[in-house]
This record gives sequence, C-alpha cells and structure tokens, in this order.
Amino acid sequence: MSTERNADCVFCKIIAGEVPSTKLYEDDWVYAFKDIHPQAPFHALVVPKRHLSTLNDFADEDVELAGRLMLTGKRLAAEHKLPGYRVAMNINREGGQVVFHAHLHVLGGRQMKGQLG
Ligand code: AMP
Ligand code: ZN
Repeated sequence: MSTERNADCVFCKIIAGEVPSTKLYEDDWVYAFKDIHPQAPFHALVVPKRHLSTLNDFADEDVELAGRLMLTGKRLAAEHKLPGYRVAMNINREGGQVVFHAHLHVLGGRQMKGQLG
C-alpha cells in the first residue's frame, strides 16, 4: 500500500497525526474523521491514506480504493445508526472542492433535502 503524501496537504498531516482530528475509522486504505465545520449533526470525511488530489487522479487500478471510500461511508452510517444519509464528493473548484486531497463527505442526522445545491 502506497503511503505517498504531500507536504503541504492538511489532510496528509491529519493522517500522519500532525494536525489534530477526531478519528472515526482507520484501516490500511482510508482514514475517516469529523468535519471541523459540520453541515449536519453527523458530518464525516473519508480520505484515502495516499495523497490523491481529486477523484480525477484515481486510475483504473484504484477501483478498490474508490470502493473502500464508499463502503467506509456505509460503515460509519451503520455505526452511528443513521437511518438515511448522503455521501458526496466535490471535484475541483468548480465542483465546490476546497481541500485538494480527495475526500468523501458523509452527512446525516437530519432530514437531507432533495437537491444537492
Ligand atoms: P470540500 O469543499 O469538499 O473540499 O470540503 C472540505 C471540507 O474539509 C470542509 O467541509 C471543511 O470543513 C473540512 N475541513 C477543512 N479542514 C479541516 C480540518 N483540519 N479538520 C476537519 N475538517 C476540515
Ligand atoms: Zn494529502
């Protein structure tokens, strides 16, 4: 498993324990933690341990990693007994991405609205 990191990346620093976070889950592939500015009562971020800036940097051979991000969202929802939830990924500035280490948002704990904005 690659552990390539980006020295300037806040999520790489979180994974390395150099920036504090509230850890929710970790395995060889992914790290999950609470979003610092939650947009719902439950708001987690799931990130690949390897630095990939956006979903566009996932190659075909990263298909397992992509699936693990998604299934970690499902795991967190089950652990936190969310009856429904949303997973979302913002890609590039035009897609609303601010932190350029790919991450899956997992939102729940309130009624999610029908539109994504
Ligand atoms: P995005 O707009 O998809 O790039 O989302 C970035 C998310 O990262 C936002 O929801 C931020 O609140 C969150 N965030 C930024 N810095 C931190 C941090 N140090 N710890 C936890 N969440 C963070
Ligand atoms: Zn990173």
